Amino acid sequence: MNYTTDDTIVALATPNGTGAIGIIRLSGPDAVAITQKVFKGKDLSKQDSHTIHFGHIVDGAVVLDEVLVSLFIAPKSYTRENVVEISCHGSAYIIESVIKLLIRSGARPAQPGEFTLRAFLNGQLDLSQAEAVADLIASNSKASQQAAMSQLRGGFSNQLKGLREQLVNFASLIELELDFSEEDVEFANRDQLKQLIVNILTILSKLIQSFELGNAIKQGINTVIAGRPNAGKSTLLNALLNEERAIVSNIAGTTRDTIEEILNINGVNFRLTDTAGIREATDTIEAIGVQKAYEKISQSAILIYVFDALEISLADLNADLESLQRPGFPMLVVANKIDLLTPLQIAELPHTESMMHVSAKEKQHIDELKHKIYHTAIKGQLSGDETLVTNIRHLQALQKTEESLSRVLDGIDNPITSEFLAIDIKQALHYLGEITGSVTTDDLLENIFSKFCIGK
Ligand code: GDP
Repeated sequence: MNYTTDDTIVALATPNGTGAIGIIRLSGPDAVAITQKVFKGKDLSKQDSHTIHFGHIVDGAVVLDEVLVSLFIAPKSYTRENVVEISCHGSAYIIESVIKLLIRSGARPAQPGEFTLRAFLNGQLDLSQAEAVADLIASNSKASQQAAMSQLRGGFSNQLKGLREQLVNFASLIELELDFSEEDVEFANRDQLKQLIVNILTILSKLIQSFELGNAIKQGINTVIAGRPNAGKSTLLNALLNEERAIVSNIAGTTRDTIEEILNINGVNFRLTDTAGIREATDTIEAIGVQKAYEKISQSAILIYVFDALEISLADLNADLESLQRPGFPMLVVANKIDLLTPLQIAELPHTESMMHVSAKEKQHIDELKHKIYHTAIKGQLSGDETLVTNIRHLQALQKTEESLSRVLDGIDNPITSEFLAIDIKQALHYLGEITGSVTTDDLLENIFSKFCIGK
């Protein structure tokens, strides 16, 4: 990773391959001057920031392309440096030639994430916002896009900065006590400190709890459909997806492997897996399928258990429910094939909070089931502007902050010297700072930015 910002970097900002337009981006002190060397058109150095100019990219006497050049003059740019974006025709040949020409004219090929790294190093973004840029690019649903956008806009960072500032005040008062340690004075009011830490711990615990949902939203919520052979699992999967994907057949044990599909409900992605039927397998291949089904079930965030409402006995149903129940993990129970049941038989089915009655084949009550899946996963947590922690690095730093602050709390209750309090408060500050990047190491930056694509 290159942490210098005194040279000018160049990379393709749009995807590789042929497209209508390809955008080449330069950032650094000489971005405008380097572009000018190969640009035939206006004198770019005399133009205002945020203006666009038509012209040609020329290699000596050869005209390479007709382009538009956009100027963003420091500090009014993504990186806070001079930035030039050259919109070329999207031919792989043209783009490669223009980039090579710019490198010959003094630019250096950018490393992965180097534009965003510079934005961070120049104070345009903090670290968690820089990470949100990568999440935004990777987002594939409304909910994951919104979580990334809210992080990019600084909601999370501001919350952490607020907490940090309050702690810094106390840390400095306690440091002061250390200077007067012989005189046994307390500058930092212990009751106030305690109150502050209790408040911070409440906020931390909320943030930590939000990770489960935040992470699920980012990755897609792992949802498994299980049940006995022929219960209608594949048919239900198709009905939920509203298309013919999984293989449906009435030979018991057909769905031998697991199939994963994405179902989007209200902007949240659910990764739906259909599993082989859970029951005693009669051959080895089937046994592997059943074993895989149980593995999938154990990893699921939500389990949808389907049964054939016409065929199954109450004893078998109860046995299945008992074997699948996992404390803390929601299970939706779906009585399928109600199209084959009389109204009286339907009335006799168990009616519980988590039980739905559907016909996968006739697509009856499928929308209600989707509604139920969504609300089971979200539990009202996606209502307002609540911050969702989506990044495991942030989660770990928050947990370490929580540990340090709990020690401070203990320390106040069982009086320890200011020296030890100061150590724990400092540690908490350190971990909070790691999230926003006020405390960083090269390894940390390397780890984060090397995962970006080149050009971002
Ligand atoms: P799986 O083994 O659990 O995946 O079951 P399938 O989805 O392959 O369905 C087994 C058989 O039940 C197929 O013949 C389906 O057409 C039929 N089936 C599934 N759902 C329904 C339903 O809601 N009503 C009726 N009448 N048949 C269904």
